[in-house]
Amino acid sequence: MAMLTILAHRERIETVSYTLNFDRKDQPGSGYGLPCDKAGNLIGDNFGTKESREAQAAQLRASGEYHAPYVQDYHNSYVEPASGRCKCGSVVCLSDGLENYCEGCDACYNLCGQRVYPELTEERYEDDY
Ligand SMILES: [Zn+2]
Repeated sequence: MAMLTILAHRERIETVSYTLNFDRKDQPGSGYGLPCDKAGNLIGDNFGTKESREAQAAQLRASGEYHAPYVQDYHNSYVEPASGRCKCGSVVCLSDGLENYCEGCDACYNLCGQRVYPELTEERYEDDY
């Protein structure tokens, strides 16, 4: 069966992020979580600068309404699909279990990179005998 030339194999990507949590003393389960590194140092991102978060943390500490902050970790994982090069030269992303179409020539490949459409008779003879 005709195959894609695999360029990258399917891969599970794991990421970890952290927040510095300030829990309210009077309302367990409510409070603030500020983005930080593993050691609890506040960090900036698209939603705020490191400086603004340090100022906020200082206010929370000074208010006396929050417990001592602690670091919480969040583990995320996702699957990066495999990709391969079609005979026509286009790169096909193998994200679907059954049907992954080549944008270059409309050939269809399954998750393993085997071509399921069109099935060319002469190629089947080549590969199977
Ligand atoms: Zn193609």
